[in-house]
Amino acid sequence: MALLSPEVGPLLVASHNKGKIWEIRELMEPFGFEVTSAADKGLDDPEETGTTFEANAEIKALAALNATGLASLSDDSGIAIEALNGDPGIYSARWGGPDRDFAMAMRNVEEKLQAAGATTPDKRRATFVAVLCLARPGHEPMFFRGEVDGTIVWPPVGDKGFGYDPIFLPDGESRTFGEMMSAEKHAWVPGQKTALSHRARAFQKFAKLALGVE
Ligand code: IMP
Repeated sequence: MALLSPEVGPLLVASHNKGKIWEIRELMEPFGFEVTSAADKGLDDPEETGTTFEANAEIKALAALNATGLASLSDDSGIAIEALNGDPGIYSARWGGPDRDFAMAMRNVEEKLQAAGATTPDKRRATFVAVLCLARPGHEPMFFRGEVDGTIVWPPVGDKGFGYDPIFLPDGESRTFGEMMSAEKHAWVPGQKTALSHRARAFQKFAKLALGVE
């Protein structure tokens, strides 16, 4: 049985990040949900004081639920780079500074990789992680994690997507996330193959449990 249905009301995406809201809206649309966001509702971003993706996702989903009473879905995500001991990880947004300047954040990644001597693809392994948290009135929060492995490339390639997309080459693909339309990052037809992106993989788990989609 589905835990969520469009009749119960809109789903609130607990985020101000335009790239994330866009992707989650696109993922939810086929299921007939009205999607609103923390940005649409003028909610403040809570401080992300957790030390894991799950903890920060929970903080965001509960803040949105408590402010609106609406079922809220948050996404805490980031890129963990092996040669940088998992950095920037949960601090991926913060590496962009107050202006969320990801050209600067990507340069910073490259400088650190060079300093660590990570100059060949095998030394430049990375994993994109997304944890979705669903908070519903009267229920314990639920978590859905998706990951995708790949390699950090330099220079950045592509002007689509957001954040670190232009330096991430997913395994098995010939183009970076920055060269893909968001629909290609999702690349998922219910019942068919595994989705490509970390967010879409997490969403697949969410859709199975919360929306009853196989
Ligand atoms: P937070 O979850 O709001 O703390 O921010 C996650 C950060 O990770 C974003 O600001 C992006 O920089 C990065 N990120 C997460 N998912 C993606 C993605 O799909 N593409 C590119 N960057 C991402």
